[in-house]
Amino acid sequence: MAKPQTSISLVVPVFNEEEAVTIFLARMRPILDELDEAVEIIFVNDGSSDRTVDKLLSLRETDPRISIIDLSRNFGKEAALTAGLTEIEGDCGIIIDVDLQDPPEIIPEMVRRWRAGAEVVIAVRTDRSSDSLGKRMSARWFYGIFNTLSDTKIPPGSGDFRLMDRSVVSAFLQLPERNRFNKGLFAWLGYRQEFVRHVREKASRPSSRWKVLNLFRYAFDGIFSFSSMPIRMWSYFGGTIAILAIVYGLYLINRTVVLGTDIPGYASTMVAVLFIGGLNLFSLGILGEYIGRIMIESKGRPLFLVRKRHGRGDVEVNSEK
Ligand code: UDP
Ligand code: MG
Repeated sequence: MAKPQTSISLVVPVFNEEEAVTIFLARMRPILDELDEAVEIIFVNDGSSDRTVDKLLSLRETDPRISIIDLSRNFGKEAALTAGLTEIEGDCGIIIDVDLQDPPEIIPEMVRRWRAGAEVVIAVRTDRSSDSLGKRMSARWFYGIFNTLSDTKIPPGSGDFRLMDRSVVSAFLQLPERNRFNKGLFAWLGYRQEFVRHVREKASRPSSRWKVLNLFRYAFDGIFSFSSMPIRMWSYFGGTIAILAIVYGLYLINRTVVLGTDIPGYASTMVAVLFIGGLNLFSLGILGEYIGRIMIESKGRPLFLVRKRHGRGDVEVNSEK
């Protein structure tokens, strides 16, 4: 079969997913077969410590549409996604998690919308009851705060699952920053967006692959890379406190002049010193958040390192046998 030019590239980040990849492909393949499009599936192995890569390599024997980008270690989902997007050959890229929480059955509809002119098709979850309560609550809080503080608005219920036209992917890859909060960056890009609604399902395997610390980093990257409100807020607050302190000082001087020497105001002095001291530390911490990010950006390290590509090149060789 002469392989036509790839039109759709699936990008799937995987981290310790030896079980999930098989289930994923079993459900995905018939959907892709139905599509009248030339598809490639790019798995990005994000430093798995189990046998994910071996599993993928053997699956690749049976399906030449599969290629694998093997990163040198765990760089986190955001970097893995970026690694996958840099390699797409298709006219559009579709990002999807391997655990099937987002149903691949809506892909044909996403592709239809794209063929009809949408540049970005975002899958929106209408029901997240399959996620744990803690996850739902923290997500709601986080996106509430994010959308209040940032001028870039993230559509509620949208995850990473989306289709992006090649032009959008190129624009995304041009963004130079290292602290990559993809959901914010995607929203920042703009372009003609359409939404496809679906119900979020239970993951094909238990427990999230996110390290808790990484989730916190993710949240912090989101807020501090997309909003300067936290740093500005403190100058307003500090200014107000300073004005109040001047007024209070004038009052005290006035009282001392009128009534003579007052009782030594030890308590009030301490309170004031401690309060201002605490405020200073807090605002220094906020400064640190930004400075830390400036430091990382200025180092200009690559976002990820590829150990090996099990790519299309050797597919050609294999299929000749
Ligand atoms: N993932 C990854 N690197 C990581 C963590 C996760 O590539 O450090 C992948 C994971 O294999 C899955 C997707 O990102 O395909 C989403 O992960 P998960 O389902 O654990 O996230 P959650 O559902 O908790 O958002
Ligand atoms: Mg999941």
